[in-house]
Amino acid sequence: MRVLVTGGAGFIGSHLCDLLLDAGHAVTALDDLSTGSLLNLTGALARPGCRFIQGDIRDTLLVERAMEHCDAVVHLAARIGLRIIVESPFDTLDVNARGTESVVQAALKQKTPILIASTSEVYGHSTKIPSSESDPICFGSPTIGRWSYACAKAYDEFYSLALQQERGLPVVVVRLFNTVGARQSGRYGMVVPRLTAQALSGAPLTVYGDGTQTRCFCSVRDVTDALLAILLRIDALAGEVLNIGNPVEMTIIELAKQIVERTASRSAIEFVPFSRAYPAGFEEIMRRVPDISKARRVISFEPKIPLESILDDVIAGLRSPAHR
Ligand code: UDP
Repeated sequence: MRVLVTGGAGFIGSHLCDLLLDAGHAVTALDDLSTGSLLNLTGALARPGCRFIQGDIRDTLLVERAMEHCDAVVHLAARIGLRIIVESPFDTLDVNARGTESVVQAALKQKTPILIASTSEVYGHSTKIPSSESDPICFGSPTIGRWSYACAKAYDEFYSLALQQERGLPVVVVRLFNTVGARQSGRYGMVVPRLTAQALSGAPLTVYGDGTQTRCFCSVRDVTDALLAILLRIDALAGEVLNIGNPVEMTIIELAKQIVERTASRSAIEFVPFSRAYPAGFEEIMRRVPDISKARRVISFEPKIPLESILDDVIAGLRSPAHR
């Protein structure tokens, strides 16, 4: 296959490009390099079968050209990172909704199967734990900028699934839960690289609130394995929505303690009130856990990489010359 990976220079996208090339496929990576970086693609671009196009997914003609001769699309490009989202909800909506429309319309025109990356953020404040694909989505008020991300991603799901239903476009939606690994930047939020970088530099680890909020962290290596498994069966899975994540739940304070231990750091843990951590437009989600029984059933998905190994990947990434 030749696969178009939008957001191909980003954290998840670049790992997916590497995996596709390892599996003998060719890749076109499209990225505007807003939060992605060509450094992430250093290895991929040195291999035959990988090409890179810099551009904005809202540029319809560019997207159509990038998609020519591709057998499938993985649409990962998006405005991401809580800090960016809270500070620029308009741009978040414009890129994540209009940009996705442009990618999905190009796929429809060229009859190219497409995997759409959505997010666990659409479950928002849902109190049903763990979250299953058929649960109602449940995000907060439009006066809170954070929810612009979930709203745009939910729209992307409706939009692409509607085109699947009415026009026969082969679409699979994947809701990614907190994904972690090397190359993830801590600049825009993203607790694991942030706290790990703090621990490595001896700075205090900033735990927001009282640290009792929970998340489930899945290795990017498990996530990209799942994306490839879906791609290989995309026609059979058309119209499906799948949670992809690791169901092991932990509090942020537990995470901080594990990071201190794993890095053998002398850093202290500092509790930072949410009001100081984020600008206005932020609201915390207290628990987030995926129900992955559907992914287990349809693609035999089983996250294999424990948190210790994920932290080792993050530590190695932060110490690599590419990061510095
Ligand atoms: N968080 C934290 N310290 C930080 C960054 C994040 O305690 O320096 C917390 C944040 O409040 C949230 C969790 O870590 O409860 C995960 O945050 P992240 O931005 O990584 O992802 P999301 O909130 O989208 O799950």
